[in-house]
Amino acid sequence: MANMVKVARTIKLKFVNLNRCKAQLFEEMTAENTRIANELLLLPLQERRKMTTAKIVCDLKSALVNQTIRHTTSPTGRKTKHYKMLPIEVNNQNWKLTKKGDTYSISFPTIKGEKRVPIYLASSHWQPLLDGLLEGTVKGGSFKLIKHRNKWYVYLSVIEDVPEVATETRIGCDRGQNNISVVASKKGFGKFFSGSEVMHRRRYFQRRRKQLQQAKKFRALKKWDKKERRWMDSINHTISRRIVRFAEYKNADVVIEDLEGCRKTMKQSQKSRSDSGQSRHSWSFYSLEQKLEYKLALKGLKLIKRPAPYTSKSCCTCGVLGNRKKHHFHCSNGHYHNADLNASRNLAQWDGFSCDLTLKKDASVMDSSDLNHGVFGTPPNFMNTQKEQIEYIQLSLFDPTLFGS
Ligand SMILES: [Zn+2]
Repeated sequence: MANMVKVARTIKLKFVNLNRCKAQLFEEMTAENTRIANELLLLPLQERRKMTTAKIVCDLKSALVNQTIRHTTSPTGRKTKHYKMLPIEVNNQNWKLTKKGDTYSISFPTIKGEKRVPIYLASSHWQPLLDGLLEGTVKGGSFKLIKHRNKWYVYLSVIEDVPEVATETRIGCDRGQNNISVVASKKGFGKFFSGSEVMHRRRYFQRRRKQLQQAKKFRALKKWDKKERRWMDSINHTISRRIVRFAEYKNADVVIEDLEGCRKTMKQSQKSRSDSGQSRHSWSFYSLEQKLEYKLALKGLKLIKRPAPYTSKSCCTCGVLGNRKKHHFHCSNGHYHNADLNASRNLAQWDGFSCDLTLKKDASVMDSSDLNHGVFGTPPNFMNTQKEQIEYIQLSLFDPTLFGS
């Protein structure tokens, strides 16, 4: 039997023709919930932990108040000073999903008793999940009642069991600016997700943003930023979906660089930072990573994070350090690679911290810079200039944690 992995997701359910009366009801419940939560916040944490629903006077059902108490003692609640708005949360024992004909309904306690409200799916992809919930093959968690753009939704968390796939190999995924992402295995072809079209569109977003800023149209600016974020999100969905398809085809887990802390340690010149087409600070690689992670998990595959700065300066054929200039990579043994493809091949080859014997023999550059950690010594690549990369390596010599050894 294959190992099962639990994959949690949140699905968004819309209410069908919610009447004004019910909308008003949800409004009142949310206001009451926020009020209770803020009152609880006035108590010290110790006392909040001991709170029971019996001690709280309010209109909400105790099942709902329990969730509110729990929220104020949770890690996020502990950090909160005041809730502007705390949505109603209903735990999995207090809601029920039913289906009549083609209509799904969800019932849960309100201030006017138990209500059953018809819902439909915000995305048709989630249809099997609802059916799974009804059949019991998918486990439902708690849901939140959330108002978005004047409409009410149920944000329901669901947990699926997915059989883990025994993979034979790994593919590397290098993220950068020339290419938002390049995936490849040790040998064979790679897949490129070009960054040039995206760069163009981002400059357009930036131009407009500047105009709005100068005109002090801040509401429009906020809208514009959201628009850009949605656009980036949709691209990240597409890229991650295609990477997953490639990984399935290769029956491989995916290795990426751990970009955490990359903002702090990596240098990017002021000029290229202010040009948003070039700026790595604002492309949402993190969101790409998250999407990739759950999409792989749903297929029983894994996302492996390789500690950051090693990949892009060693040759994926022989392992020695080479030179990178823009898209080109050369090593002293005469191998040529596309720089991003080289980096993703290196990621695919990574097997922990071990070091090739040939690497030790040939890596004269590494010896001379006293890098005998058995590491392919390089920072994440992107569009750093040669000078910056060298600076980075020297810098990291004084910080052994960067090498994870
Ligand atoms: Zn080489």
